[in-house]
Amino acid sequence: MPKSAIPKSPQPPPHQRSGVLSPQNLAARGAVPSKQRLAAGPVVTVECIENIPCNPCAYACPRQAITIAGSLTDTPAVDFDKCNGCTLCIAKCPGLAIFVVHKGYSKTEATVTLPYELLPRPTVGTSVACLNRAGRAVCKGKVVKVLDTKALNRCAVVTVAVPKRYWNAVRNIRVGRKGAE
Ligand code: SF4
Ligand code: SF4
Repeated sequence: MPKSAIPKSPQPPPHQRSGVLSPQNLAARGAVPSKQRLAAGPVVTVECIENIPCNPCAYACPRQAITIAGSLTDTPAVDFDKCNGCTLCIAKCPGLAIFVVHKGYSKTEATVTLPYELLPRPTVGTSVACLNRAGRAVCKGKVVKVLDTKALNRCAVVTVAVPKRYWNAVRNIRVGRKGAE
């Protein structure tokens, strides 16, 4: 068979090749709130685009803002207008894929609220390194809130204030001596 007749296997999508989701991937999947909704106050972003058998998020939201229609392996859909940014869903996600962003936190800063399972926990007022989806430090941030109760099942929920332009980049933090460098 001539080479040209051999069917090419389909290319995996970019995030599967790199292992990292991009804002573009997420926007294309409808996972990024609109400018208007972001301006209205804190809101969830569910960064889960693989068809995995999982659904705690669909039961976590008291306002039914997150739904998984159809099969267990369908990806979650979010009604951003139902979400009030309460953060209750964050620690329920075993994939650490749920965040709450508040783009209008202050004139110069946004907040990102994220799941944090490592020890030591960060403390309010400390400076931490803020990491992007690839785990690379992109800026410094200040911890403004830490929720770490038994009900959260060993997953703390940490809110960090970051320079506003990083609201859609920061998705993790590094705590400790290196974090404050
Ligand atoms: S942040 Fe609160 S209101 Fe928004 S989806 Fe999560 S649990 Fe629901
Ligand atoms: S709980 Fe997390 S990993 Fe599971 S489907 Fe929901 S967002 Fe995805």
